[in-house]
Amino acid sequence: MQIVSSQISIEKTSHSRIKEQDINNSPFGKVFSDHMLVANYLDGSWQEVKIIPYGNISMSPSMSALHYGQTVFEGLKAYRNPIGKPLLFRPEANYKRINESAFRLCMPPVPEDIFMDGLKELIRLDADWIPTQSGSVLYIRPIYFATDESVGLKPASSYKFIIISCPVGAYYSEPVKLIVTDKYVRAAEGGTGAAKCGGNYGGSLLADKEAKQQGYDNVLWLDGKQKKYIEECGTMNVAFLINDVVITPKLTGTILPGITRDSVLTLFKDMGVKVQERLISIDEVADAYQEGSLSEAFGMGTAATIAHISTINYQGRDMILPPVSERKYAPKILQQLEDIKTGKVTDPYGWVCQL
Ligand SMILES: *Cc1c(COP(=O)(O)O)cnc(C)c1O
Repeated sequence: MQIVSSQISIEKTSHSRIKEQDINNSPFGKVFSDHMLVANYLDGSWQEVKIIPYGNISMSPSMSALHYGQTVFEGLKAYRNPIGKPLLFRPEANYKRINESAFRLCMPPVPEDIFMDGLKELIRLDADWIPTQSGSVLYIRPIYFATDESVGLKPASSYKFIIISCPVGAYYSEPVKLIVTDKYVRAAEGGTGAAKCGGNYGGSLLADKEAKQQGYDNVLWLDGKQKKYIEECGTMNVAFLINDVVITPKLTGTILPGITRDSVLTLFKDMGVKVQERLISIDEVADAYQEGSLSEAFGMGTAATIAHISTINYQGRDMILPPVSERKYAPKILQQLEDIKTGKVTDPYGWVCQL
């Protein structure tokens, strides 16, 4: 075992699985790299941080996260620059956000050195797992959950923080078709909508399933109180271009503050395009569509970066947006952001982190 810092010990695998994998063409989220980081929190303090071979963990059937959902996660990606050097995109934003999520779920913060140094050390060790083919990347999943052996309901006193990663093939996303739902809500005022917690996802699956049964890819979520204002699409933030202005729902506490959202808005502003973060109702979008002033709509998130929206079904009618080839803004922003993430252009924002 090698000790790389006072904090982190590394036990390397004796059998790398990388040669058995076509890492440039892996199905999303099913192939995992050789190592994982594990840190336990017990009785008020963090224990030794270990990087060990990827593998099963043991748990008690009473493990509290399984019962009461004290579990949060993050998602980010590692890229290669044009000469093959590994890069992360805004990892400190994920570090900050996991602790905002943790706070909401009554979990102690993950220390910065465990998250940031652990993440960098892990990805350096598994850097060969970052695909070389353009478009393919290494998706990184930090997860943090309660491990008390107890079915008593209270904030747990023991936790586990883990980082795993998986190579993912190029994400050729077709434009997405959305359906507005007023049957289900993703988040309510005072709820956990702004936290990246497992329960938000579990609760969205039925709406997503019904959307797919009706021939759509995702749900366009409205606010929980009035079922009027647009919040997110699927598990992405959402924005609209109306009369050459970018309009995106403001972060009211029910919306997940996306790092892609923040990056995209920054790029739009620096391109000289007007950006509005405000309440936007589904009726405003429908009216703009009627008038012909709705030119683009897109989702934003780490998985797709930008997912162009082709169709929005509202009250049984499809609004069909212009083809992506006719869109003036989002394709350009997507390209610019991908070029920054992959080190093809210089990064004036300090977003890119070299390993
Ligand atoms: C993770 C997530 C997003 C996107 O956040 P990014 O930081 O851009 O990946 C948007 N909405 C929801 C509900 C999410 O969980």
